[in-house]
Amino acid sequence: MSNEQTPKPRARRQLRRSTTTRAALLIAIIGLTALAIERGWLTVAYIPLPRLNLAAPNAYLLDLQISRLGANRDQCNAILTPPYISAAAIDDQPNVADCGWRNAVKITSVAQAKLSVEQLSCATAAATTLWFAHVVQPQAQQKLGAQVASVQHFGTYACRNIQGNKLWRSHRSQHAQANAIDIAGFTLTDGRKISVLRHWSTTTPEADFLRAIHLGACKYYHVALGPNYNAAHRDHFHYDRGWFRSCR
Ligand SMILES: [Zn+2]
Repeated sequence: MSNEQTPKPRARRQLRRSTTTRAALLIAIIGLTALAIERGWLTVAYIPLPRLNLAAPNAYLLDLQISRLGANRDQCNAILTPPYISAAAIDDQPNVADCGWRNAVKITSVAQAKLSVEQLSCATAAATTLWFAHVVQPQAQQKLGAQVASVQHFGTYACRNIQGNKLWRSHRSQHAQANAIDIAGFTLTDGRKISVLRHWSTTTPEADFLRAIHLGACKYYHVALGPNYNAAHRDHFHYDRGWFRSCR
C-alpha cells in the first residue's frame, strides 16, 4: 500500500517545484526586461506604445512613454513642442569618464514659464514639461493666484559624483548625463519670488505651493529630493529620470 501512495506526494512536489520555477523565471524575465529598459540595454523605442500626449498623459503607460522618448530622438523632437515647451535638439556629447549626454535638448521655456537650460536629456525634459503643465502652473494659480513667469535653477549638467550622501558619493550623479535638474525657485507673473531656501520651512501660501509641487513631481520623475531629504538639498529640489526610485 505504501508503495502505491509514494508517487502521489512526489508528483505533487514535482508539480509545485515546476510551478515555482516557472513563476521565478517569469518574475526574473520581467525584472530583467524592466532593468534593461531603464539602463538603456534594451531600447524602449521598439516597444509598441501609444505616443506620449503632453496635454493628457496616460496614467498607466506614462513612465514607459517618457522613458521611450529618451531612446528616440525623432519622437522627442515631435513631442517636445510649443505651447508645452520651447526646446531644440542639441548634438550628443560622447561619454567620457561616465560624463556626457545623448538625445538632449536646449530649453528656453516650459508651460509659458521662462526656463533657460543649455542641455537636459529628452526624458527629463519631458518630465519637466509635464510637471510644469499639470502641477506647477495649476498649483501656482490655485495657491498663489498667479502663474509662474520664470524659473531659477542651479543647473542640469555637471560631470561629478553624487553629493551630500556618504553611501553614494563614489557614484556618478544623474547630472553627469544631463539627466537631472536642480530647481531653486520661481518668479510669478506679479513679480513675487518663491524660494525653496526661504519659503520651504515657513507656514505661508508659498510653502504650501512648494510642498504641493514637490509632491506632484514624483509622478513624472524617478527621483525627487527636497529639503526634507538632507542638508545638501535645503535650497533646491533635485529631479531626475535615472534608474533609482526615491521621492523624499
Ligand atoms: Zn541635483
